[in-house]
Amino acid sequence: MKHPPSLARLIDALHALPGIGPKTAQRLAFRLLQDERAVAQELSRAMDHALASVGRCRRCRMLAEGELCPLCDSASRDDSQICVVESPADVIAVENSGAYRGRYFVLMGHLSPLDGIGPAELGLHELALLLQDERVREVILATNSTVEGEATAHVVSEMARARGLAVTRIAQGVPMGGELEYVDGGTLAHALAGRQNVR
Ligand SMILES: [Zn+2]
Repeated sequence: MKHPPSLARLIDALHALPGIGPKTAQRLAFRLLQDERAVAQELSRAMDHALASVGRCRRCRMLAEGELCPLCDSASRDDSQICVVESPADVIAVENSGAYRGRYFVLMGHLSPLDGIGPAELGLHELALLLQDERVREVILATNSTVEGEATAHVVSEMARARGLAVTRIAQGVPMGGELEYVDGGTLAHALAGRQNVR
């Protein structure tokens, strides 16, 4: 049985979201149009409003409403450090750790030549301009621990080193509360390679 065109369009739109299969898309669409029409209306309005008013921060490329994001706008952040991450969600994760007071740069992805994502798409030119700021001393690479994340970190580290800046990579290894027995070999190898003196 075929859905009416408008319903089919809604299901297709929901299905286009990551992690939403065709059955879940259909269930959500039915739910929104049956019992949750007020939720659906608010969702639609919120989506329109966010699309119209949320763009990227002029300085760090974080999602922002206005020219600068609150983090770039804040006078209380440490200008000497720039933490380079792949996505806005990574900024939130680092912020929630409460362990960092510096600035950020959001790549909005990682190098992936096959998908047409190169230095221009990641805003590396804008990052290079940021690194010219004399207050910057250290670039912290916090890209994901994937092949693409590592390749991206390598390119950014070359850029930063060329400017004579200190370059650090966030540590990788055994998670807090983790038991060695259950940690995979690659992670354990990283943890061993990155071992530190006990103070
Ligand atoms: Zn910003």
